[in-house]
Amino acid sequence: MFENLSERLSGVFDKLTKQGALSEDDVKTALREVRVALLEADVSLSVARDFVKAVADKATGQNVTKSITPGQQVVKIVHDELKHVLAGDNEEPGELKIDSPPAPILMVGLQGSGKTTTTGKLAKRLKEKNNKRVLMASLDVNRPAAMEQLAILGVQVGVDTLPIVKGEKPVDIAKRAKQQATLGGYDVYMLDTAGRLQIDEVLMQEVEDVRDIVKPRETLLVVDGLTGQVAVEVAEEFDGKIGISGVVLTRMDGDGRGGAALSMRAVTGKPIKFVGLGEKMDALETFEPDRIAGRILG
Ligand code: GDP
Repeated sequence: MFENLSERLSGVFDKLTKQGALSEDDVKTALREVRVALLEADVSLSVARDFVKAVADKATGQNVTKSITPGQQVVKIVHDELKHVLAGDNEEPGELKIDSPPAPILMVGLQGSGKTTTTGKLAKRLKEKNNKRVLMASLDVNRPAAMEQLAILGVQVGVDTLPIVKGEKPVDIAKRAKQQATLGGYDVYMLDTAGRLQIDEVLMQEVEDVRDIVKPRETLLVVDGLTGQVAVEVAEEFDGKIGISGVVLTRMDGDGRGGAALSMRAVTGKPIKFVGLGEKMDALETFEPDRIAGRILG
């Protein structure tokens, strides 16, 4: 995912760390190259600009050029700043609010983003890693195939799905899921909302109605990491209309340029909680800013 960015940055930093003493001009030149590398990775302009400014301010404040290992110190500042832009402060990777059972989790996103797949993956994870009893329900009444897809995934991962009742409206399915989760002693119930091809007022209203009924503890937006800045725009729109608590970036196994991951937190203020790394049910990882910053810097 970050191969190109990583390669570009290690080129820049190799030059810096091999040099002994650095002048302010050396640092400036390196940071200009960092900025270009970020933009090439499809990081949004304002995020790239703020990033470079923050690094420059810290490098000057710490008198990097006068230190014994100036190059390494610049790399350290960039690492910390990458971590910051990926996560903000005090974020626990992958943490979900799922106390007070049954805790509702609302899954939202565009059609094809990987929402249903991610619902299955996350249910599996909650069951196996967090020891939770999970119930899943599909609200995608317009696409019976999507409802069946979730039922199949449920069998595959050993998680219950709410039986499908033909002709039922999304809000009624949500109410039934809540009731069954309460009566059945489930810890969590996950609602896989209808996908849309683009932001669509009618479908958004539908999600809002469901949200108002179940009052989700988590509203997770599933978004295709390969779409770069578009992913960030989609997140802004969903957050404005529905209010999201976090993001799952899918297709991070692909050869996208990584800009979505780097811009998401800074632009939307919402954390990336998980990343999807493949089609299989165990291809979901918590988003760990420290590790990703390390991977980007090689
Ligand atoms: P939905 O319409 O948003 O519910 O999307 P689906 O869950 O049906 O996923 C659409 C396609 O993307 C399916 O073929 C999934 O197997 C695939 N997919 C989902 N997540 C990932 C991922 O993290 N990596 C890869 N490579 N494929 C994924």
